[in-house]
Amino acid sequence: MKITEVHIYAHDLPVKNGPYRMAMTEVWTLPTTLVKLVSDTGHVGWGETCPVGSTYAEMHVGGARAALQAMAPGLIGAEVAPVLLHARMDALLNGHNYAKAAIDIAAHDLMARALGVSVATLLGGALTDRVPSYYSTIVGSPDETARIAAEKAAEGYPRLQIKVGGRPVEIDIETVRKVWEAIRGTGVRMAVDGNRSLITRDALTLSRECSDIPFIMEQPCNTVEDLQKIRPQVRHGIYMDENSVNLNTVISAVGTGLVDGFGMKVTRIGGLHPMRIFRDICAVRNLPHTCDDSWGGDIIAAACTHVGATVHPRLMEGAWLAQPYIEGNYDSRNGVKIEGGHIRLPAGPGLGVVPDEGIFGNPVLSFG
Ligand SMILES: [Mg+2]
Repeated sequence: MKITEVHIYAHDLPVKNGPYRMAMTEVWTLPTTLVKLVSDTGHVGWGETCPVGSTYAEMHVGGARAALQAMAPGLIGAEVAPVLLHARMDALLNGHNYAKAAIDIAAHDLMARALGVSVATLLGGALTDRVPSYYSTIVGSPDETARIAAEKAAEGYPRLQIKVGGRPVEIDIETVRKVWEAIRGTGVRMAVDGNRSLITRDALTLSRECSDIPFIMEQPCNTVEDLQKIRPQVRHGIYMDENSVNLNTVISAVGTGLVDGFGMKVTRIGGLHPMRIFRDICAVRNLPHTCDDSWGGDIIAAACTHVGATVHPRLMEGAWLAQPYIEGNYDSRNGVKIEGGHIRLPAGPGLGVVPDEGIFGNPVLSFG
């Protein structure tokens, strides 16, 4: 089964009640990029990649589209099989995992549809049809963040991610303490995410001043070296998110015992094929992790949910979706939604979602 057509679409996702605010990023609208692959058997598969602004990670929308444009002509005639396709993409362009991810996701969707199975089945099999999500607060005032935390805990979210950073650490400490008071006894787990913004001094202070509160610190500081520096002194587990840019970094972090888990993004690691390898590496060392992405619509959401369903529930920290922040769905009938803090695994072959006809307009580029 070979690729005969590659179509690239540009689409803007408006942020509901914007902006979405992290320590170093504020976004009002997110330009996403979609890929449609067509095979010589007439099957179709959809992929997507959507960097959340230009400063969250080493990726941006212009880079994604330029990389896809550079690779797409060389993909015509390529076999629709993950190992072969990644070898082909790597031969066409070094790096640019987040662009390759869109092709990878589309290929998994197409292949699963051709086989009449779900993407989760293709990834080894779903262990659940109800994947946990987690709610992420924006960097906000202590009282408002605690109010939202209590509300989301009551909604059924098993985990909350509290964004901190970009302000005096005392406010972050007050925020974490107030959130804990609000959710104590609910069983809801807490992650405190600095999104790279804390200097090591403040990360240590935050951990020390909240040593009686159970949470994990997600990517508190900017670099791997910073994490190494604070690791022996913090009172909390450390998860790596932004720094885990590829499988090589993951293997080093796991092998040296630097981290207790990961926030992992499907597009950052390069798609569902590397994500599957990442999942299995974490399983060997009993490291929990998320299966999500920084942003994106139904295609990304479905991809995260399918791979999330294949992670052992003991290690699954949740799939964050942008869906609560976006108006509408690409697939008006089977769009992916969070209900009661969980996501139902989309049914049907492939990703289980198909964008409504014409929703993205004409492709900005077509090959084949
Ligand atoms: Mg994070």
